[in-house]
Amino acid sequence: MNNKAQRKNIMLPKDAPAKRMNIMTKPIGSACNIDCTYCYYLSKEELLGHERGCETTMSPDMLENYIKTYIEQHNFPEIVFHWQGGEPTLLGVNFFRDVVRLQKKYCSKGVKIENNLQTNGTLLNDEWGKFLSKNKFLVGLSIDGPEMIHNAYRTNRSGRGTFKQTMKGVEILHKHKVSFATLTCVNNLTGANPLEVYRFLRDVIRSPQMQFIPIVEPKSFRDTAPQKWSEDEILFQGMPETEPSHPNSIVEAWCVSPSQWGSFLCTIFDEWLENDTGQINVPYFESCVETWMGRVNPLCTLAPMCGKGLAIEHNGDVFACDHYVYPDYKLGNINDSSLDDMQFSQGQEEFGRAKESTLPKQCRECPYQFACFGECPKNRFIKTLDGELGLNYLCAGWKQFFTHIDPYISMVVATMGYPVRKGINADAMKINFK
Ligand code: SF4
Ligand code: SF4
Repeated sequence: MNNKAQRKNIMLPKDAPAKRMNIMTKPIGSACNIDCTYCYYLSKEELLGHERGCETTMSPDMLENYIKTYIEQHNFPEIVFHWQGGEPTLLGVNFFRDVVRLQKKYCSKGVKIENNLQTNGTLLNDEWGKFLSKNKFLVGLSIDGPEMIHNAYRTNRSGRGTFKQTMKGVEILHKHKVSFATLTCVNNLTGANPLEVYRFLRDVIRSPQMQFIPIVEPKSFRDTAPQKWSEDEILFQGMPETEPSHPNSIVEAWCVSPSQWGSFLCTIFDEWLENDTGQINVPYFESCVETWMGRVNPLCTLAPMCGKGLAIEHNGDVFACDHYVYPDYKLGNINDSSLDDMQFSQGQEEFGRAKESTLPKQCRECPYQFACFGECPKNRFIKTLDGELGLNYLCAGWKQFFTHIDPYISMVVATMGYPVRKGINADAMKINFK
């Protein structure tokens, strides 16, 4: 069948409810050219039983089947592909040339396809720069801060820091005018240096969008799936062993502590509010404006439901979420089941609803439940003070952050001319806008 005929076959159903998908695609599995200490994905090769040394690259047939199927699952005029790893640039530019070719082959007229590529930036060169720019890829660049901070954990296999190679990647992105956002892992070191990290990303990297991810890893994270923890390893909120620096900590030493996370967010929020609103997008902050307006936060971690973003491995295995790539949360394989069936399976729906339905009383009675929703369930491995399971490890930090930003976000919403529907000022401001 030629391209024209195939494109004709994929029709967008008229008047059908909008159908979109978000899948984190791992075309090279967990393979990576570097060896970050805190990486949550390097251990997947062993966990998922992919034999050492076996091919972890998505085969040409699998790639074509996946792209075709993914496009068919949409009836929406914008389709976004997310490429992650491991390190997807290890596949080389030609792999992604094929991606773009196949997307064109199966894309219906009038539908726009976008590609997001997450990378450590160390393999980028002019060939990549030209390709990414020409094909309008949005690059997510992993960088943790200035040299000393970045090099502490983002190391190669001989233990050397990768800062210099990553900075070459940054030069390539600027040189070829590639759209990019930075992704910064907030660990115990970044967490202790909020302004240094934020100003470096703003002034040296010139990051237009800063994403921050808290590093929270219980000691058993490599082989124990979230919610499958043994009860013995779950401690009460505030116990000394919940601190990453404690010799018997339940989390890895490089994790951010709850109080560090709260101070980190509050400090960079103040800097952003004073100098950078409208210039730099920090999704954690901008999405809160929407929450205070009464809308659902577009970030899954701060939304009431999970389950809308699946993950697919190089061999077609599909999982409930990028953070739930464990055998316990495998939904199937695209060779045997449709993406649609897996996304709307009973198990996945229950997984999605559990985010809110399993909240402990402490969250249900929290004044900031509307903004937090207990954050990501993968981090809910401590007990509330009255002994209930399922509290988020970062709870104290989130509460500090939401309490801090509440009056400012209310002001931003009111200044924009919208009713403030949530937060301490909600009732007062609602009257004005009724
Ligand atoms: S499990 Fe965490 S990362 Fe996955 S959808 Fe839920 S909140 Fe998002
Ligand atoms: S701040 Fe803490 S208590 Fe409040 S919703 Fe979030 S995790 Fe629950």
